[in-house]
Amino acid sequence: MDCIFCKIVEGTIPSKKVFENEHVVAFHDIHPAAPVHILIIPKKHIASMNDVGADDWHLLGEIHSAAQQIAKEQGVAESGYRLINNCGKHSGQEVFHIHYHLLGGEKLGPLNA
Ligand code: C5P
Repeated sequence: MDCIFCKIVEGTIPSKKVFENEHVVAFHDIHPAAPVHILIIPKKHIASMNDVGADDWHLLGEIHSAAQQIAKEQGVAESGYRLINNCGKHSGQEVFHIHYHLLGGEKLGPLNA
């Protein structure tokens, strides 16, 4: 399957990983939109939120658990951060392997800007 994030999971494309466990990987976004911009993904290929199956919901819990740990390690837990999932064309989703953006390290603009 020609999925760039699957290749990051396999290690055939390099990434700056900050977290990895049995089900989840997190790494620095190559085009950071904030001082802290980490992408958190399941190792399993799931194209988008629309494709999360009945057996997959625990993976989203694992991603949130990883986000909590990463936010602490990146020093943004107290100041605050956003966890964003883009789903589909209107959201601007570009990579069709489900992922959550963890953004922080500065005061973020309003969502309706
Ligand atoms: O939510 P969306 O699909 O738009 O976000 C994809 C993100 O993946 C972008 O922020 C892009 O910079 C990032 N990316 C990356 N490493 C790659 C390819 C894309 O960090 N090799």
